Amino acid sequence: MAKIKSIIANEILDSRGNPTVETTLTLTDGSSVVASVPSGASVGKYEMVEIRDNDSSRYGGKGVLTAVRNVNEKIAPALLGQDPVKQGLIDETMIKMDGTENKSNLGANAILSVSIAVCKAAAVAVKLPLYAYINELISGKLPATVGHMPTPTFNVINGGKHGAGNLEFQEFHIVPASITPYHRCLQMGEEVYQKLKEVLAQRNAIHSVGDEGGFAPNLFNNADALEIIMEAIRGTKYKFGFEIFLGLDVAASNLRKEDRYFVRDKPTSLTTEEFIDYLSDIHHSYRLLLLEDPLSEDDWEGWQKLTQKIGREVLIIGDDLLATNPVRVRKAAAEKACSGILIKPNQIGTVSETLSVVKFSQANAMKVIVSHRSGETNDTFVADLAVGVNAQYVKFGAPARGERIAKYNRLLEIERELKL
Ligand code: PEP
Ligand code: MG
Repeated sequence: MAKIKSIIANEILDSRGNPTVETTLTLTDGSSVVASVPSGASVGKYEMVEIRDNDSSRYGGKGVLTAVRNVNEKIAPALLGQDPVKQGLIDETMIKMDGTENKSNLGANAILSVSIAVCKAAAVAVKLPLYAYINELISGKLPATVGHMPTPTFNVINGGKHGAGNLEFQEFHIVPASITPYHRCLQMGEEVYQKLKEVLAQRNAIHSVGDEGGFAPNLFNNADALEIIMEAIRGTKYKFGFEIFLGLDVAASNLRKEDRYFVRDKPTSLTTEEFIDYLSDIHHSYRLLLLEDPLSEDDWEGWQKLTQKIGREVLIIGDDLLATNPVRVRKAAAEKACSGILIKPNQIGTVSETLSVVKFSQANAMKVIVSHRSGETNDTFVADLAVGVNAQYVKFGAPARGERIAKYNRLLEIERELKL
């Protein structure tokens, strides 16, 4: 079996134009793979730490040369000659070498670029498609059991930290019904997206796009964005409530100050209870299918109450709340704080830890949504990850912009290969 011959990291740019880490791993048989890592804008407080140089003479301090050096000078020498199929052992080696609780020594960006490269290299070495190899990694069984394609949820209006407009909710989604074949979902998403552009233009609203490819308008309030999406859906052949639904990522940690929530839809700030009532009203008006980060990452009681109130009808998804972190996911499962988990490998920093969080979540009846970050590269690892772990949903942004489309197109390729 081929072994690791070289690991070389470089600094590249992500979709926002910020530096990020790209790692090339070559095996002794001459084959090589490339992995690069994304970066969030609305970063949860409990995420592992990506290292930036903080050298203001380069890229406004956002350079990643330190992380790159950590790969080339510290991690690479320890992994040369190792067998890439030993994902657990390799990730453990990097975690130990880092030695911190939050991977702030070597950097989660440095560690994850290597961890993903190792996973891709192992798939090449054992001659399996990446999704099938990931399936074996998570299940521990041969052959791979990949049962279905995930349903894409499309972020068609970008607010909060992702849009230049005035909306506070971060993401307004359209979600095709899960029985829809993946390629049809993509077509539906794209057709509604194009109609939405027309509707915004007719209203003289800004229809330039935000960080994730969705439009970033100025509107009267957040509920207006949902109204406009409904109008766009009515302008297509798709039936709202049957074929296509709505979803939100409130990213509520960014709306909370001193125990109160602030939204332009309400004249005064809201307590947790009032915010829950407000979100329930939105749900009852628009029949949401997905509701991500409805409350702040520290408002555990609020999460429990909201899940009790509407959790049977809406998938309540923890992103900042859970941070793909095993300790936080265990707490959420025990307290029934949510019913779904957003999986972002760079929140935790290794493939092994990501897979064990997925495994625990699935064993505890939580639905899995594999996600990109707002700052992305053209790496498509998350598409294979989603299929490999049998995720229910993927969240890769709007059906537009190269770094988002790369992932949606990879899923098309997998769908064709699997004849699903
Ligand atoms: C999110 O909050 O779900 C998201 C993808 O945004 P970011 O990458 O900025 O955290
Ligand atoms: Mg989120």
